[in-house]
Amino acid sequence: MTAPVNDPVIGAVWADVVGQPDAVETLTAATRSAAALIDGSGDASGMTHAWLFTGPPGSGRTVAARAFAATLQCTTDGIGCGQCRGCRTTFAGTHADVRVVVPEGLSISVAEMRALVQLAARRPASGRWQVVIIADADRLTEGAANALLKAVEEPPARTVFLLCAPSDHPDDVSVTIRSRCRTINLRTPSAESIAEVLQRRDGIEAELATWAASVSGGHVGRARRLATDDAARDRRASVLRIPLGLRRFADVFDCADALVKAAETDAAEVSKERDEAELDALRTAMGAGGTGKGTAAATRGAKGAEKELERRQKSRATRTQRDVLDLALVDLAGFYRDVLVTRSGSPAVLNHPDHAGQSASAAESWSPESTLARLEAVLACREALELNVKPRIAVEAMVTRLYRPM
Ligand SMILES: [Zn+2]
Repeated sequence: MTAPVNDPVIGAVWADVVGQPDAVETLTAATRSAAALIDGSGDASGMTHAWLFTGPPGSGRTVAARAFAATLQCTTDGIGCGQCRGCRTTFAGTHADVRVVVPEGLSISVAEMRALVQLAARRPASGRWQVVIIADADRLTEGAANALLKAVEEPPARTVFLLCAPSDHPDDVSVTIRSRCRTINLRTPSAESIAEVLQRRDGIEAELATWAASVSGGHVGRARRLATDDAARDRRASVLRIPLGLRRFADVFDCADALVKAAETDAAEVSKERDEAELDALRTAMGAGGTGKGTAAATRGAKGAEKELERRQKSRATRTQRDVLDLALVDLAGFYRDVLVTRSGSPAVLNHPDHAGQSASAAESWSPESTLARLEAVLACREALELNVKPRIAVEAMVTRLYRPM
């Protein structure tokens, strides 16, 4: 079920928090308590200074956190009207008291976290709340997590931390930080609720929206991409050709090469525009092309800053490439799960209902043991990438095992 958009008590900012009625209810109650705290009246027990949004990738952790931030900053009725300056600037990313931290490279540095904690300790300019959203709290380094812990343990009166992570497992968020947070657990949204939001918000026609939602694995952003981007559809199709396409040993290297190159191309597309814009902004800020006194020193400083920016962009590109490759691996794992599901005769919903014919034909010719071995090969590849094994090496090892599983 989607949050009813026209409900007078639930604000419009919740419209894109797909299929999460329980979370919306808790956070709406928290906003009422937050208002009570500011007024010094009523029950404030629903509000706290640190929240942990957990849920699988694509379930909308940051979308929910941002909607909550908007309701906290909403000046009209305090429920997130979506229209007032507080709501609009929160969504536009320009609200003076809302900071969204997205780890750009592989993690957030200690220095960045310290600077952030210092900013968060200021009094809110709006007189309401200082909100800090940390989009991937699971990518904090130990040092950064420690710097954050201090702030979460002794939060300034009007500061709220919203952390987002896949789960509250100690691998994702340290036990000490988790113990200071109230957890909002998001579930995988249903295909129906994703199809509904694609039609309503993105104006995608019903049939395409339903198809994209059905093959997205409950990932809202991925569903939108598949519905609107031909290249994304092509890449998914080429990934799903791999299982039945491995006929000769030579196919192993072609498939591995195609997977790695597709991830590189995809990541490069995502990065290129952003990288160039950042470099332009930096050059403008550094006053490139100036002449006169002090220019030489300024130029040396600018070169140093450019080098630093390039280093960060490279690190971020590596992360993007790994994320893109991981999505392809999730699709691939989904196919082998479908083969197992089909073989066992279980009525479970398929990951790739539009490839049911292929998974059925694989279920007939492969033993369950060999299918399971293939699935394990994909999962092992995901783990290897997480441990920083070079993509090409990890992917070649995986495809070799897909071709000859046991
Ligand atoms: Zn508002």
